[in-house]
Amino acid sequence: MKRAERAARKVLQRLEEAGFQAYFVGGCVRDQLMKRPVSDYDVATNARPEEVQALFSHTIPTGIQHGTVTVWLEETSVEVTTFRVESRYKDSRRPEHVHFVDSLYLDLARRDFTINAIAQDLNGRYYDPFHGMDDLASNMLRTVGEPFERFQEDALRLLRAVRFAAQLGMRIEKETYEAICTHAGLLSRIAVERIRTEWDKILLSNAAYGIQLLLKTGLFPYVFFDIEVPSPQILSSLSLIEKLPKKLTIRYAALCDRMGIREQEADRWLRKLRHGKKFVRDILSVLRALPTGDQSICDLLNWEDTTWRNHLYHVGKEAAEHAAQILSVYEPNDQATMVYNLYRAKISQQPIWTMCDLKIDGHRLLNEFPDLERKGWLIGEILKHLVGEVLRHPHKNDPYALLCEARDFLEKNR
Ligand code: ATP
Ligand code: MG
Repeated sequence: MKRAERAARKVLQRLEEAGFQAYFVGGCVRDQLMKRPVSDYDVATNARPEEVQALFSHTIPTGIQHGTVTVWLEETSVEVTTFRVESRYKDSRRPEHVHFVDSLYLDLARRDFTINAIAQDLNGRYYDPFHGMDDLASNMLRTVGEPFERFQEDALRLLRAVRFAAQLGMRIEKETYEAICTHAGLLSRIAVERIRTEWDKILLSNAAYGIQLLLKTGLFPYVFFDIEVPSPQILSSLSLIEKLPKKLTIRYAALCDRMGIREQEADRWLRKLRHGKKFVRDILSVLRALPTGDQSICDLLNWEDTTWRNHLYHVGKEAAEHAAQILSVYEPNDQATMVYNLYRAKISQQPIWTMCDLKIDGHRLLNEFPDLERKGWLIGEILKHLVGEVLRHPHKNDPYALLCEARDFLEKNR
């Protein structure tokens, strides 16, 4: 038994011993039934948040107004949420208020999909009032209750439906599907950060199927904004993305590359999705590292060694490695394979990736040329010059050769 599961069982046990009801709920029950790895354990209980806090020594009131307390146990965390019902949804967003209740049934009834509304007790017994297990068996995603109402209550569920379908490889039940198509426009009311969380999970799962569903249901513009709809050929090629590691930087870059979303447009899109600056920069570097279109692939096959070295230095090691990984899953035609092999070879031959890879540094320069103390700014200039020299002539990355080069540079710039 893994540590997280052991900790979650202890939480259930402690709650039961104190006379409360407590169950595993949501994703952990679903994933365990599907024989998928369980990422985290959620517990539902009739104990009120303050009662949960009183029972455990390390707790964090993560979402106490919604009844959620994070319990730290055995160096892992378990989310414990009081049974609740949600009332008064405003503008298809999160509910304004939640009410704590004593009924497991009511807590399960407020959940989005039947497969997410199964509870399990410590003895392994299931509580499945909405027949989520039948839906799991027939691979069918269905809302708990009336789909029109459920999507009107919280429009994020529209996107969550696509997320679960793509992540778990499920079909969407007919009425649920029709309700998604009818209510697609409601997604515009949802905070973009919440949209992004679900979209990122789609990208990390079966992205091609997910995007196809977004297009068919009309949800696409609420994730991609004004980006053009991909053609059927492009869509089918997106399944390649699944072969890539589950790393967002790589998958975003591959998606943009495949869909023809170039640097500027990608930048705008990622910012609209409120991704962080560094994350956006990393993706753009990978995009820059990838050859785009037939013309640039041809050009790249004819590049001089110095052009390669400059290109790789400019995009950086990580982006170059990611680009090579992306190229490795693209269509295995002769040209793509050639580009991939070339990329790998050039990466392995790259003499320096950053200034720090030079065999001398600022201190060494100061030791050799004490006059530089008065002209600190020149040190940076010399190092930049040395980088250029090494990219042109890799054998010059040697302390003696670099010092000679620095001396020449200083003579010329006296
Ligand atoms: P994952 O493994 O990706 O975390 P999950 O099922 O645990 O999947 P969460 O987003 O962590 O998904 O939500 C936990 C549970 O809370 C869900 O299984 C579902 O029962 C309920 N839930 C979450 N968001 C909503 C929502 N918008 N409307 C109704 N129920 C929701
Ligand atoms: Mg979860």
